[in-house]
Amino acid sequence: MAEQYDVVVIGAGPAGYHAAIRAAQLGMKVACVDAALGKDGKPALGGTCLRVGCIPSKALLDSSRQYWNMGHLFGDHGITFKDAKIDVGTMIGRKDKIVKQFTGGIALLFKANKVTPYYGFATLHGNRLVKVKLHDNSGHDGGEIELTGTNVIIAAGSDSIELPFAKFDGDTIVDNVGALDFSEVPARLAVIGAGVIGLELGSVWKRLGAEVTILEALPDFLPAADAEVAKTALKEFRKQGLDIKLGAKVSRTEVVGKGKKKEVVVTYSDKDGEQSFAVDKLLVAVGRKAASKGLLADDSGVKLTERGQVEVDAHCHTGVDGVWAIGDCVRGPMLAHKGFEEGIAVAELIAGLPGHVNFDTIPWVIYTEPEIAWVGKTEQQLKAEGVPYKTGSFPFAAVGRAVAMGEPAGFVKVIAHAETDRVLGLHLVGVGVSELVHEGVLAMEFKGSADDLARICHAHPTLSEAIHDAAMAVEKRAIHKAN
Ligand code: NAD
Repeated sequence: MAEQYDVVVIGAGPAGYHAAIRAAQLGMKVACVDAALGKDGKPALGGTCLRVGCIPSKALLDSSRQYWNMGHLFGDHGITFKDAKIDVGTMIGRKDKIVKQFTGGIALLFKANKVTPYYGFATLHGNRLVKVKLHDNSGHDGGEIELTGTNVIIAAGSDSIELPFAKFDGDTIVDNVGALDFSEVPARLAVIGAGVIGLELGSVWKRLGAEVTILEALPDFLPAADAEVAKTALKEFRKQGLDIKLGAKVSRTEVVGKGKKKEVVVTYSDKDGEQSFAVDKLLVAVGRKAASKGLLADDSGVKLTERGQVEVDAHCHTGVDGVWAIGDCVRGPMLAHKGFEEGIAVAELIAGLPGHVNFDTIPWVIYTEPEIAWVGKTEQQLKAEGVPYKTGSFPFAAVGRAVAMGEPAGFVKVIAHAETDRVLGLHLVGVGVSELVHEGVLAMEFKGSADDLARICHAHPTLSEAIHDAAMAVEKRAIHKAN
């Protein structure tokens, strides 16, 4: 006899745990199933984001930034030191402790909200029947359990895309999971893909002393970002010594040697023809795909798109009565916070409330140094769409707080509609912009204008003044630069 719930959520990542907790808050009886295991082999909630994504990468980005600043920023402040050493084990241990704190935190939140967790692999069958193959160490001694939900929310997440000529071996050729756990700083690291993961994890190991080469197949750097932001970021990354090769298509990799002498020979072609080089580790970061393997039984009725994503409408409904899907396994950007919002919206829709996600105001952040962040449309997009617009920019080099911090790189750009002045986009590259971007999100959500941003009092001295002056620059009235 199947256990009956109001809602069964498949996946306890950012999308799934938000959906489960919100549904429980709204008075529903909720179960949430997750198959993932932590580094210690025990069930771990929180999905890619908490276990092997957002949180651990931010921990290592912060550790590596401290080390990098010692060598590159402290001298200007008159601080010198001798014999700085990196203990990679301690650094990884710190990261693992943070991960455990947060994955354990989800279990506590489930308990507090009376969400029942099941630790095992779930497959959705017809009539919203979910069969779960339980882990042996899940507290259920293995075996299978059946759950039925009046509603089922699929939040199965995503997996790294593997290249046929660079198969992950968990040692020399790795994905984001492996690159978060190197036991020492690789002398030479190659990265395939100058996307978000490649840039963030490439930065971590570069700052710790690795020689890092990033091979990007596309001729343009970060084409989804504003072109000027991407150009500035590329210049800064190259200044830091990241060797970013654009238009570089990898065709072969070969692991050679044994033990300490093991290396990967990477062969790629670019405008100069075919070239090869050897590295100690290779990170493949060429995107992620929906985790749909084994998820849907033939009788589930749920369809997959051509790209293998669970097919949904604008409200995350699959078209099968009572079955919804959210997060990385459906269309839209693979961002934890997009999953958060979809999870909350679907729980509210199930409860008969007006749940909604505004895809036009989802912020993007790349946690490199300088950080990159944006919300809304880029100039390229507006040009292509024929929308008349005006812009105002302001450099951090003219922002007192940024200069005092020794972080003058980058700028802020406000894009507004040429006629209505409504904010259409905010694009930032520089220190702390992961936090600043939300001013743009707020302005866009409230249908604000560049003039609104220009007339809001910003504390001095803060980094946010860059937004204030950029907004004023839209009408050529920035105070701290020649317009
Ligand atoms: P991505 O899509 O951001 O970047 C992949 C890059 O690899 C692209 O630039 C692509 O052109 C390039 N590429 C693809 N095939 C290639 C090949 N054969 N040779 C060379 N280059 C190739 O993907 P990602 O960096 O793997 O990240 C995966 C997902 O995780 C993304 O959707 C991203 O948004 C998400 N993520 C987000 C954050 C964040 O928000 N800060 C952090 C990490 C991951």
